[in-house]
Amino acid sequence: MTPPALARADVQPVQSGCADAPVLKERGQREVFCGLTGIIWLHRKIQDAFFLVVGSRTCAHLIQSAAGVMIFAEPRFATAIIGERDLAGLADIDEELDRVVGRLLDRRPDIKMLFLVGSCPSEVIKLDLSRAAARLSRLHAPRVRILSYSGSGIETTFTQGEDACLAALVPELPEEPQGAKPSLLVVGTLAEAVEDQLRRILTALGIADVKFLPPRRSGDLPTVGPATKVIYAQPFLGDTSRALERRGASMIVAPFPLGAEGTTAWLAAAAKTFGVDQRRFEAVTGPGIERARHAVARHREKLAGRRIFFFPDSQLEVPLARFLARELGMELVEVGTPYLNRQHLAAELDLLPAGTMLSEGQDVDRQLDRCRAAAPDLVVCGLGLANPLEADGLTTKWSIELLFTPIQGYEQAGDLAELFARPLNRRARLEV
Ligand code: SF4
Repeated sequence: MTPPALARADVQPVQSGCADAPVLKERGQREVFCGLTGIIWLHRKIQDAFFLVVGSRTCAHLIQSAAGVMIFAEPRFATAIIGERDLAGLADIDEELDRVVGRLLDRRPDIKMLFLVGSCPSEVIKLDLSRAAARLSRLHAPRVRILSYSGSGIETTFTQGEDACLAALVPELPEEPQGAKPSLLVVGTLAEAVEDQLRRILTALGIADVKFLPPRRSGDLPTVGPATKVIYAQPFLGDTSRALERRGASMIVAPFPLGAEGTTAWLAAAAKTFGVDQRRFEAVTGPGIERARHAVARHREKLAGRRIFFFPDSQLEVPLARFLARELGMELVEVGTPYLNRQHLAAELDLLPAGTMLSEGQDVDRQLDRCRAAAPDLVVCGLGLANPLEADGLTTKWSIELLFTPIQGYEQAGDLAELFARPLNRRARLEV
């Protein structure tokens, strides 16, 4: 049995990659959304969960405006507003929280898992939500499981909300049975269509036991233990990864499934771990690779040679830069990321063009100066920076869109390329 060689999947590290490249570390003012933002994609995924933010009116506005108004469905998130009396210590906030949760659960028997989500205000008044979750769990067990995590904006970035949520789920995962056969756990929120596609491919490769975290229903929590091999679908899950390691699971190092090349390398890493035969690997992945390459090629003419600058925001910057440089021929001016997790990004850094300018953290004014001086063709940034940069005549792409749009896997590779071609097309039309 020959394990699939990455080289056969057309994934060749560039001459030296960026594994040891120096990184500009900045620790100044940052312009990022907070971790509450993750609720917007998490509440769609875990369909019987509810996210109760314990925060201020600002927190309520943030998630309401980011998520839009849900007209046809009962909402699966809300904010318990901490009022002035609570902040001044005049009210018993534990009692109030118990009342709010009791009312919510009485009204909504469909809720099977409730997350109490901490915010800046709840942290400022040192509200212990983990204690509250334990107390409320005892009250409402076994009907509802109640957990807590922090989505606070202090020193975090918006994708850390998902990391904190999944890390809070890990202790709840059932123990795998004694003597369990190796199983594959795919970790990170994926759109359902993407999850179904990847599951089909992994099953066709002969990997019998494939599970996903988060699950679609809170009762379907995957088991975990020493036979669990974890592959990450998202690059921002450092805390979750440490929690899974503590449960005995081991990590498969792989690039992320973005683009034809990234998806193939991701699948190849899983296939190698499970000893999948090379011929079978090629037969299963071949048609998807072809479709993805074809779909990506349609955007190459527009994007090749164009210069792109990434502000640190989503933590997807390094895998996206690898995809855009290698599959679309874009030139990377600067790749900024809030955190550079070398363990999770090891395979990605190997594939980045040698000499790529990497920066970690942010000093927003200095970075804006660098960006304006470089005058790139396209800037990927948070919502707060997009308007001023557009006013300067630069073309921008909101990084948050990349979390709301299905972009992983072969069938999405063309759409992913199009997300970067579209702002350039729009600018070209405006200039005509
Ligand atoms: S958690 Fe903090 S940063 Fe996020 S909306 Fe609330 S107050 Fe603002």
